[in-house]
Amino acid sequence: MSTAPRIAAAKRDWGHDETGCTVLHIDMDAFYASLEEARNPELRGQPVIIGTGHRAVVSAANYAARAYGINSAMPAARAHKLCPNGVFLPVDMAYYRAMSHRIFSEVFSQITDHIEQVSVDECYMDVSAALLRWHRPSAIGAWIRDQVAQRYAITCSVGIASNKLVAKMASTNAKPDGMLLIPQSAHATFVQIMPLRGIPGIGPSMERRLNSWGINSVADLAQMDETSLSRATGSATIAHDLLLASHGIDTRPVTPYTPEKSIGSERTFAQDTENMRTVCDLLRRCCDEVASTLRRRSLVARTITVKLRFEDLRYATKTLTLPKPLDTASAIYPVSVKLLQAMLSMSEQDIAAERLPRLVRLAGVSAGGLQAAGSTSVQPSLEDVLEESESSTSGQKQQRLRGAEQALDAVREKYGKHAASMGL
Ligand SMILES: [Mg+2]
Repeated sequence: MSTAPRIAAAKRDWGHDETGCTVLHIDMDAFYASLEEARNPELRGQPVIIGTGHRAVVSAANYAARAYGINSAMPAARAHKLCPNGVFLPVDMAYYRAMSHRIFSEVFSQITDHIEQVSVDECYMDVSAALLRWHRPSAIGAWIRDQVAQRYAITCSVGIASNKLVAKMASTNAKPDGMLLIPQSAHATFVQIMPLRGIPGIGPSMERRLNSWGINSVADLAQMDETSLSRATGSATIAHDLLLASHGIDTRPVTPYTPEKSIGSERTFAQDTENMRTVCDLLRRCCDEVASTLRRRSLVARTITVKLRFEDLRYATKTLTLPKPLDTASAIYPVSVKLLQAMLSMSEQDIAAERLPRLVRLAGVSAGGLQAAGSTSVQPSLEDVLEESESSTSGQKQQRLRGAEQALDAVREKYGKHAASMGL
């Protein structure tokens, strides 16, 4: 669920010249909550919040719930306080995924196969080839919106522009249930009426940093020269990307992509074991491998699953949905250990004695809910990633660990994948 700022002035008629505007960004409105409303029509009009349980976070909220100040990643307990009469529902990821798959195959893929899926409810589409048949990108956007509403009783918003950056900013500002076309000649003006946070990739930390240099809006950013901006941001690459973005320029192509279901690693023990340390050591190696694969493929994971096979050959799994996506073993491993302990209902004594209540034959970890890591033209600064992740470790420690893991990736690339591992 997007928390990007929208401004009322952006939702207007920007003109009708569609020349070169071949990129569509399609984003379902309050997807999980809308799907729940669609299958329980009596929920319509009521505030619907997805995320229950006393330690849960909000995964999605419909617009009625957002009016109470409820947002994604907010603790569900806090949402309860803000809106005690809201309808709180558990996350039914299997259902949302199945519906997403239907929408992508039954509607989006009817237009083109040039689709870059960003997440379960969001994609970019390059419609250049489809224009032979459809003539205007806006006709495609209108058809998609109509089909989604009719077939699934939910709404989506569409942004149309010449590149991914402006198309995404357009769909954000078209929400909810809208479509916004930004002609090429208006790209710079459109982007420059936005607050800094309107550019995907600029988070609270980068915003504060820019503010401290007197840069308070995208228009201010566009006035900067690259050298001063490099000094302000501490990075020539970020400065370059920010300047391009502030003029509505983005050269990233739409790259057809469908997220993989999951990335996992598992191993069978030479001998069945009830030693918790042995199992944790193996989980640690699995986390290291999974995280390294995620980074190599520029993916981040929203869910972590631990799998065990017991001496009687039965399987058990337990999954946790994370408030923010992860790609480091140092963040995934502690989650895995908690899942292991929860799955086996381990008592304090079991944990203290490092003894599992059952003999384990195989253990593994998998990462799911995968998203492309580089889904913005401006890469979020590490500080912003950390600030937005509800990590239990301190920001600086997490930053060091990530740096260390990336260094290991480089070593493995050079000397083979068994050359190094994290001693977490
Ligand atoms: Mg959405």
